[in-house]
Amino acid sequence: MQPDLYRLLLKSISEANILPVTSACNGRCVFCSHLQNPPGIRVYSLPPLGKEEILELAEFLDPEKRIIIGESVTRINEGEPFLHPEFPALLTGLRRRFPATPIQITTNGMGLTPATVALLARLGRVRLVVSLNSATAGGRRILMGDNNPAAVLRAVASLRERGIPFDGSIVALPHLVGWEDLRQTIAFLVRWGAATVRIFLPGYTRYTRQEWVPPAGTEEKLQALLAEEREKTRVPLILEPPSLKDLTPRILGVIEDSPAARAGLKGGDVITAVNGKRPFSRVDAFRQVQAAGKVVIDIIRDGKPLRFCLEKEEDASPGLVMAADLDPDLFRSFTGRVRQLARGRALLATSTLAAPILASALERVKEELPSLEIMAVPNQTFGGNICCSGLLLLEDFLAVLPDRVRDRRPECIFLPGLAFADQGRDLRGRSYLELQAVLKTPVELIQ
Ligand code: SF4
Repeated sequence: MQPDLYRLLLKSISEANILPVTSACNGRCVFCSHLQNPPGIRVYSLPPLGKEEILELAEFLDPEKRIIIGESVTRINEGEPFLHPEFPALLTGLRRRFPATPIQITTNGMGLTPATVALLARLGRVRLVVSLNSATAGGRRILMGDNNPAAVLRAVASLRERGIPFDGSIVALPHLVGWEDLRQTIAFLVRWGAATVRIFLPGYTRYTRQEWVPPAGTEEKLQALLAEEREKTRVPLILEPPSLKDLTPRILGVIEDSPAARAGLKGGDVITAVNGKRPFSRVDAFRQVQAAGKVVIDIIRDGKPLRFCLEKEEDASPGLVMAADLDPDLFRSFTGRVRQLARGRALLATSTLAAPILASALERVKEELPSLEIMAVPNQTFGGNICCSGLLLLEDFLAVLPDRVRDRRPECIFLPGLAFADQGRDLRGRSYLELQAVLKTPVELIQ
């Protein structure tokens, strides 16, 4: 195995508790991100790994945290885990090694058979994230190239009966399959017991085939459709990515029969205090509730203050669904670093997705750090609607920073660590230190 790939494997396992098992996939999704990358992006496909090899790597997993399979946070292409020829034996080995650790598996559903569903039920503490995308035969064929959709739908419909909790996800492409297909898919997932349903606006780049790009107005129509569908169910229907402009800890939804639901909390409630302490952000509110056993939560609902008492085991999931905004520890360490500068004159260059959230956080420290500025950097390399920090490249920063730096003369420029997550290098392998040389200004990563 290439040393770079091995290093990324270990990073994925030790930092995110994600266990990569295969990069092979039997789907042919029109929205697959692997098909839309600009040239020169350094991503890796796993060679075939045997069960024993993967179990050896699994020794680096943290047994106290949920084990995740079928997702990727590094540059390793994730595939369909059930396609691994030894996946049942691998899962059995993992359960033997980690008897009490929850395991989460993301799947396109095509490997779910009565036998695999029975195995998951036997193993226990397994949760699935089913990327269903469509619950109609025609829809799954168009969106995913699925030639046996009936088997997938039967398997998904059997999960609740077998005691396997699951969440559903849908990449919304109604211009390809119709709005009715989307409604039917939401209804199918709700009917068969999905705890949550996430509906994704598809990400597209300048390299995406034009017919796959959603037409203008899709997001607005989708929001209207979800507002209607939410009237019919208590299952949280969540639009992704969330369009966040501030740090208000608003609850998006509450999972049925969860501690939060039993306490009486509802989607739309705004948390004002957790055990008497005002949360900094959504992330802070969620973490505080998650960590606590018995917790008193103050909220505002329809303009009125209310108080609820939630009881659960410490560190157990409260059943709240909240968008991820800003990690308070990360913000604290960043502003602490700015305070150390002689004049506090710093420039934070970040993605267009993160900029409004960070601007809202900077408002809170404006008096103390008046010379700290923020700049949104468009992703010109990927283009399309790509707006997250992790996909920004060095050349995106180089396209906009020189003029700004000439005008404002910051003492230091801060960049999102996510954009340079591989040892300070971006997705094409270029180091953030190149920027320092060009701008003749110190550059630091926030991480
Ligand atoms: S299931 Fe995932 S990895 Fe496979 S083609 Fe679809 S999007 Fe790509």
